[in-house]
Amino acid sequence: VTVERVRAEFTRTFGHAPAVIASAPGRVNLIGEHTDYNGGAVLPIAIEARTWVAMRASGARHSRVVSTKWPDAPAFSMRSPTRTGTWSDYVAGPLAMLAESGVAVSEVDIAVESDVPVGAGLSSSAALEVAVAFAAASLGGAEPDAATLAKLAHRAEVEFVGVPCGIMDQHAAARAHAGHALHLECDTGHSEHVPFAQSVLVFDTGVARALRDSAYAARRDECHRAMHLLRDVFPGLRWLANASMDQVHEVRLPPPLLQRAQHVIEEHERVGQAVVALRATGHLPGALLYESHRSLRELYECSTPELDWFVEEAAGQPGVTGARLTGAGWGGCAIAVGTADGLREAAMTLAQAYRQRFAREPRWWITGATPGAEVEWRADEGPA
Ligand code: ADP
Ligand code: MG
Repeated sequence: VTVERVRAEFTRTFGHAPAVIASAPGRVNLIGEHTDYNGGAVLPIAIEARTWVAMRASGARHSRVVSTKWPDAPAFSMRSPTRTGTWSDYVAGPLAMLAESGVAVSEVDIAVESDVPVGAGLSSSAALEVAVAFAAASLGGAEPDAATLAKLAHRAEVEFVGVPCGIMDQHAAARAHAGHALHLECDTGHSEHVPFAQSVLVFDTGVARALRDSAYAARRDECHRAMHLLRDVFPGLRWLANASMDQVHEVRLPPPLLQRAQHVIEEHERVGQAVVALRATGHLPGALLYESHRSLRELYECSTPELDWFVEEAAGQPGVTGARLTGAGWGGCAIAVGTADGLREAAMTLAQAYRQRFAREPRWWITGATPGAEVEWRADEGPA
């Protein structure tokens, strides 16, 4: 997808040219899983797949949105934006939040183009929200500030769309830098850009577990309970990720809360170790990725046979230096890290073996760390 494609789509649909075009990437998390809602750290990169948004004030009573990937959504009005339950919520949400923050948002025409796979765990939702926020902020005459727009897009997903997600996705989509991972502390929102020069194979096992939502909610609840038991003894403790294993042992957390807490605490520490290593060498130590996976499998119990299979097989490939499941688990994607050529070779071998083993077609992508959201183009003379 390019500027030209989304511009052509916009012009074909609405009969006039757009005033601004912005884009935002999908993301994949290198390490730091199930840490976000426990106040811990994450380490995502922006991926090559992006979502593009072309926009212009409509001059009409309604806003209209089209997407090449999705059936048409009903027109909506920015004067009384309400949730419709369709994909346009991911567009109306950021617009409503921008209006609330004082940016002049009028009724708009919007065309969306994307090559971010939807529902694969690469956060097509945040890519769309953030691209909309950047385009609309630019259209409204505001200088798009990545951190502000990331927070705004996150609020849009939680409060407007109604998905209780952590802050990682929108911050990665809005704030990532090319050739860097984003080290984000989810308790404070503090972030830094850490050099990351390797390539990543994203391998979608194609297994969407029906129990994912309920299992995820159960883990959040377990972490919540562990936190309460810890706080009874250590009232100053604010987040589970900041507890120590000494504290966990002193409180005698019962299973499985003990295992969940141990994963969160050690996974948060692993992110810190990964950042130190990246700063020193630009490479992610494979051992950290394998330890993360083992912890997710054994302590957090969110892996699947397919994800375990991938990590084990990937570890035996010459082009791979480390691998683990990524995202919430219970199906979805795993990553392997290495060189682009090495990973490409490994991916073909792994995909072939996966088909034979599971009678299922995997999808895979190879990516480096790409830039976050950008205003790609603005009409110099404003609306023609
Ligand atoms: P993901 O893991 O990809 O973020 P979500 O369920 O969080 O999965 O978000 C996917 C939803 O975001 C889709 O169902 C759709 O409503 C919206 N969406 C994402 N990308 C697009 C797009 N290119 N066009 C229209 N809607 C999109
Ligand atoms: Mg999403």
